Amino acid sequence: MHRSVKIKSILAGGVLALAIPMVGSADVAPVDVAAKAVEPHVIEWRRHLHANPELSNREVKTADFIAKRLKAMGLEVKTGIAHTGVAALLKGGKPGKTIALRADMDALPVTEQNDLPFRSKVTTEFRGEKVGVMHACGHDGHVAILLGVAEALVKMKDSLSGQVLFVFQPAEEGPPEGERGGAKLMMEEGLFNIAKPDAMIGLHLMASLNTGVIGYKPGPLMAGSDYFTIVVTGAQTHGSRPWGGVDPITVSGQIITGLQTIVSRQIDITQVPAVITVGAIKGGIRFNIIPDSVEMVGTVRNFDRAMRDDIVKRMQTTASNIAEASGAKAEVKFRSDVSLPPVVNDLELTDRAVPLFEQLVGKDNVTQITLQTTADDFSFFGTEVPSIYFWVGITPRDKDPAKVPFNHSPLFYLDEAGLITGVRAMLALTTDFLAR
Ligand SMILES: [Zn+2]
Ligand SMILES: [Zn+2]
Repeated sequence: MHRSVKIKSILAGGVLALAIPMVGSADVAPVDVAAKAVEPHVIEWRRHLHANPELSNREVKTADFIAKRLKAMGLEVKTGIAHTGVAALLKGGKPGKTIALRADMDALPVTEQNDLPFRSKVTTEFRGEKVGVMHACGHDGHVAILLGVAEALVKMKDSLSGQVLFVFQPAEEGPPEGERGGAKLMMEEGLFNIAKPDAMIGLHLMASLNTGVIGYKPGPLMAGSDYFTIVVTGAQTHGSRPWGGVDPITVSGQIITGLQTIVSRQIDITQVPAVITVGAIKGGIRFNIIPDSVEMVGTVRNFDRAMRDDIVKRMQTTASNIAEASGAKAEVKFRSDVSLPPVVNDLELTDRAVPLFEQLVGKDNVTQITLQTTADDFSFFGTEVPSIYFWVGITPRDKDPAKVPFNHSPLFYLDEAGLITGVRAMLALTTDFLAR
């Protein structure tokens, strides 16, 4: 990916430099020394976690592992937040602001195909099936990085002004059906009562960037996500005599087409894009029976809460009016328990971060990323505190990141040389924020 022309011209015009006094002179040398010192631990921890992955809301051993290490660093640790979440607070030697740092902990029902000495051989049951378990999204790296950052910050504790809240979050990939979990539940269970942060940082290791590259984006980055169900009710009849009933299958076809006109014809996509996807449809049992009802499930992705609410209303109107035209009924429901807001990066935090990133990895290795229609429940933290979420590359330099297996693939490969970039970036942002 390439730096956007826009950002280049802003930098050339010096606007960014004016908005951010002092950053050009920020010294990243102490960060480098501190990160280098913890790197062997980070790699060792990551390998252990990689070989012992656990699914969402089942991160029991992972939580024990994290708590044990944080305690060994002398930190007071709180466990069992949102089932398996772990948090610890580091108090600096001087008063100041509070910053929270987040790592997600869960693995995926994926059978690893990488040939590594520490590859995952773990299997478990998921939705009634025997599956392999793999850290196929790099969350093993996230946990190891945050533990490394904790170790480094504990060593520089006396010189720190303020506090650092370390947040190890379960179930980022989504809790199992019928369960709650993740960032929202951590907040409901009082995470921010430990200390209310003034800012929060999260990162993600991404296969789409090379090792040593950092990706950022001011404003919206990852989509808000919704889960909807549409039930179309007609009246069952013989397939040869459709006039004797109401056909919910034909109506569903019209609704699916109608829904696609919301994004393409009704919302202002020059602001931010949106996606409506019907992912599953189920109705009927036999070739010559028109069924009683059809059920559809799908997702809406958005980058703006007001636009999202508008889309929800339009979907309800579209579905029910189309159904009514044929004498059927359509009910559109959104599952509030799995509704996620978009990840929106605070502009001031991003303005501060970019020059720091450039000092850490060089201008050529800092890239502005485009909007992502994937989601991350880190966004819930961002609804309460200004936050920044950025990407760190983990695809080896000799490989084309556009061609390697992406996150969630059984061949997802994490170049461990990229971990230290995550440690350095988090350390630099944290120390910079607290020193202000
Ligand atoms: Zn993932
Ligand atoms: Zn992930």
